[in-house]
Amino acid sequence: MTTNESSIPTDFIRNIINEDLRNNKNDGRVHTRFPPEPNGYLHIGHAKSICLNFGIAAQYNGLCNLRFDDTNPSKEEEEYVQSIIEDVRWLGFDWDDRLFYASDYFEQMYEYAVQLVKAGKAYVDDLSADEIKEYRGTLTSLGKESPYRNRSVEENLDLLERMRAGEFENGSRVLRAKIDMSSPNLNLRDPAMYRILHAEHHRTGDKWCIYPMYDWAHGLEDSIEMITHSICTLEFEDHRPLYDWFLDELGAYHPQQIEFARLNLTYTVMSKRKLLQLVEEGYVNGWDDPRMPTISGLRRRGYTPESIRTFCERIGIAKTDSTIDIALLEHCIREDLNKRAPRVMGVLRPLRVVIDNYPENEKEELDAINNPEDPDAGIRKVPFSRVIYIEQDDFREDPPKKFFRLAPGREVRLRYAYFITCTDVVKDEHGEIVELHCTYDPASRGGNSPDGRKVKGTIHWVSADHAIEAEVRLYDRLLAVANPAGDENGKDFKSYLNPDSLETVTGYVEPSLAGAAPLSRYQFERLGYFCVDSQDSTKEKLVFNRTITLRDSWAKIEQKL
Ligand code: ATP
Ligand code: MG
Repeated sequence: MTTNESSIPTDFIRNIINEDLRNNKNDGRVHTRFPPEPNGYLHIGHAKSICLNFGIAAQYNGLCNLRFDDTNPSKEEEEYVQSIIEDVRWLGFDWDDRLFYASDYFEQMYEYAVQLVKAGKAYVDDLSADEIKEYRGTLTSLGKESPYRNRSVEENLDLLERMRAGEFENGSRVLRAKIDMSSPNLNLRDPAMYRILHAEHHRTGDKWCIYPMYDWAHGLEDSIEMITHSICTLEFEDHRPLYDWFLDELGAYHPQQIEFARLNLTYTVMSKRKLLQLVEEGYVNGWDDPRMPTISGLRRRGYTPESIRTFCERIGIAKTDSTIDIALLEHCIREDLNKRAPRVMGVLRPLRVVIDNYPENEKEELDAINNPEDPDAGIRKVPFSRVIYIEQDDFREDPPKKFFRLAPGREVRLRYAYFITCTDVVKDEHGEIVELHCTYDPASRGGNSPDGRKVKGTIHWVSADHAIEAEVRLYDRLLAVANPAGDENGKDFKSYLNPDSLETVTGYVEPSLAGAAPLSRYQFERLGYFCVDSQDSTKEKLVFNRTITLRDSWAKIEQKL
């Protein structure tokens, strides 16, 4: 195997692999896998694991499998399988023909179980779930052996076969490994290997009514696929001795398990159980709601795969848990969109402006730069006419000191257009401002000063007659506190839901956006990055999601460092 060691970032997992390669362990093979359970949509935490596993395979000319860990039929669905396939692919990774399902190994797992029973290393237990729990003991008290622990091999084999044949009710028996009820590691106190569950499986149908427990199945799956480095999150560290025990007793191929810290993000819950709750109880509009930390939510929000991969690279890999500031993720998408997103003008809260000295029924096409960061992006034409919309925020009747935008008697620059001066403010019967009157300086065409006189403010605008109405969804954080899953004060995470996480406005965008394709991304000048909604935007009615505002708190933090 050839590796380019100079390009390999140093983290403790890659150090282990480098060492293994130096020792020609596994004949120099590097084979990883990403093993999601299809019981929910993937989230940004999974992206960390995906980038790590597929990234390592790519870096070392190795392989990475996509494997569905589908051993629990009660929570798994085909919809989740499809979404996971779509999301991993969208992130930019490929598994060739190595798409596997744990359920394809059920027969082999059963044979392994029979092998352990025959070796006197597993037994059928008739204790109830509650009794098993009670007998297990605690960290400070020893476990107690089940009265069924010393059944003969013949009786165990007979009972296991009958469990499989469907003779017994759910929960009436389990197959357990016979290890050590006094082990200080609770995972080794005769863990369950099979449970009885008369349930339809999304792939095996009603073929099975016993299903392997996660701890029994997971190590076997990695072994069957000849995985070299079985990378998982820290909570499985204490399970490693059990996986080792199973594989040693079976004499099976032995992958090396390496644990790393899972991703936690501020203002975000990442547990699939909690995300499912948000979906099922209607706090969000589905798994791909743009406020969700799911890959599909981030995609719909306007995130690019590149920005997510960059984020995963920057957070790195560690051995201790920590929480990453969500501002870093937001910084990564701003940085990417700054390079690639075309600039356009859109007005979210329109205020009508009539330019009194501009000829009626005249229309001009003015040049606008598509992307100052990308010289190849060129220019486009933007129509200008007598009536325009500007942002309500860009006008103040009584401007405070540092307000440099439009105010009565004040001159500002309309981006790419002209200097205008406000001459009159029109209000309705409630005193609300409904319209401004301005004059323009024809000599300032293109927004250039005709005589060296300066204006302090430049504002964006759209031509009222030519702009397209659009629904714009403005998102804020779904959760209002930095550590919503912390539970320090015992509060349910839902009590931290931000009631203002979605505001919908009707705005106007420049006509170049007519027919914009779903998921196309733009910078609305001065406002932020926006993306055409993939579900609800149509030719007749454009719908935009705000990906992120322009303000970058992380860039400021970086500057200070
Ligand atoms: P569950 O509680 O349903 O098992 P899970 O988040 O562990 O939830 P899996 O489908 O088992 O979901 O995860 C697939 C892979 O993604 C696992 O290898 C897991 O370690 C990894 N993973 C899950 N969450 C994170 C996270 N927050 N950070 C890094 N990796 C994660
Ligand atoms: Mg898991």
